[in-house]
Amino acid sequence: MRVTDDRYNRDRLRLETALRLIGHEARTQTIRRWTGLSDDRIRKLFRSYIRPGAGVRRHRGKSPQQVGFFLRGGSDDAHALAAMLLLFGVLPARTVAARAPDDASSPLPSLSRGRQLCEAYETYRRVVPQARIDFEHAVFLAIALNAGDEIRLQWCHSCDAANITEHSALRLPPCRACGATLRDAATMSPDR
Ligand SMILES: [Zn+2]
Repeated sequence: MRVTDDRYNRDRLRLETALRLIGHEARTQTIRRWTGLSDDRIRKLFRSYIRPGAGVRRHRGKSPQQVGFFLRGGSDDAHALAAMLLLFGVLPARTVAARAPDDASSPLPSLSRGRQLCEAYETYRRVVPQARIDFEHAVFLAIALNAGDEIRLQWCHSCDAANITEHSALRLPPCRACGATLRDAATMSPDR
């Protein structure tokens, strides 16, 4: 009985989260990855719950794959969203400074993280006027920051603010919050 209840609750949670993701116009592959539902069930959800003309579009095709926007034009938005991703536990409070190269893989998408991701994104949309990052780009930001191989979060040694930095940058920018020079904890030598 207990097992059945647990399974039922988990299934309900999957469906709730999937509907929330559909509301954010997430792609089918995104919904599948974060809820574990099959494509077939996701298609049925679209058909059953989304009325034609309800204003919810269904995106097809590839998810975004460019980090440049987060570093340049959309940097303010990306930092606000990254703060929410940290706050709601989608990203760990601190990335481990010197992580082994193939340890970047604790798989981020999961049902519980999917719900946290919705919370983080909905809060970002509430607090940032004219928010410029759509849901698929928010997912991409979370995954890119978690992987840390193109962009990552760098905590300021002076004020503790989280800064998004480019992994390949030769020189790190000053801290957005206090202007102190950011130091790369992973490569910092004691005499710097
Ligand atoms: Zn700082």
